[in-house]
This record gives sequence, structure tokens and C-alpha cells, in this order.
Amino acid sequence: MRQVTRKVKSYRCDKCGTEYPNKADAKSCEAGTCEKKKFGIGDAVRARHSRFCMAAQRGYQAKGRVVAITGPEPYDPEVMIKGFGISQAHGHIYWYEIEYRCPACRRVKSALYPAEALLAIRERRRP
Ligand SMILES: [Zn+2]
Ligand SMILES: [Zn+2]
Repeated sequence: MRQVTRKVKSYRCDKCGTEYPNKADAKSCEAGTCEKKKFGIGDAVRARHSRFCMAAQRGYQAKGRVVAITGPEPYDPEVMIKGFGISQAHGHIYWYEIEYRCPACRRVKSALYPAEALLAIRERRRP
């Protein structure tokens, strides 16, 4: 009997770093476009869709600032369509973590959004 050590090959997408056991999957991931960053850290944004505050039992609109950006990550239609109602997107997207004060319970919260689910708030600069 001989011991066999099998090397597990995997293929990595150069765009997002995700590893796939299957070459075709990695290739199709890499073929996907990558969206441009729409927001930067510190940008003021608001969410397109309302959220529900469990503590205050009412819906509200999240308004806050981008505190972190992760990605690019492969676009996941399951998450995007079910979670955000977004069916059109790039092969790779960024996730924006926003921090905001809940207008219903006044607590500071954070949430992750894709760019398509956020709107920029134009800030008025004082002269
Ligand atoms: Zn990828
Ligand atoms: Zn709340």
C-alpha cells in the first residue's frame, strides 16, 4: 500500500480572489465586469428602500455615512434580487457599510448595501 497525497487544484478569479474548484467557473467569474466604486468612505448616503426598526416597530429610511467598502465580490443574483430587488448588475460589485442613527429608536446602527440600493445625499457647504 502506498500513501497518496492528492493536490487539490483550484482556480482563482483575478478580479475578486474567489477560488473555484472548476476552471470554467473561475473563468466566467473573471469574465464578469467590475463595477466602478460609486461612493467613498465618509460619503453621505441614504438607502432607497426603507428598513424596519424592531425596537420601535416602525419602518424608516436609513441615512448615514459610508464607513467601509468591501469587494469586489462576485455578484450574487439570489442576494441582490431577493434582498434588494436589483436584477441588473456587474459581475463583481462592491458592498458599502453605512453607519446611521435610527430615526425610530435613536440607536446607531450599521448596514451593508450595494451601490444600486443607495443614493448620494448632496451636502450643502456653508459659505
Ligand atoms: Zn471574480
Ligand atoms: Zn431603531
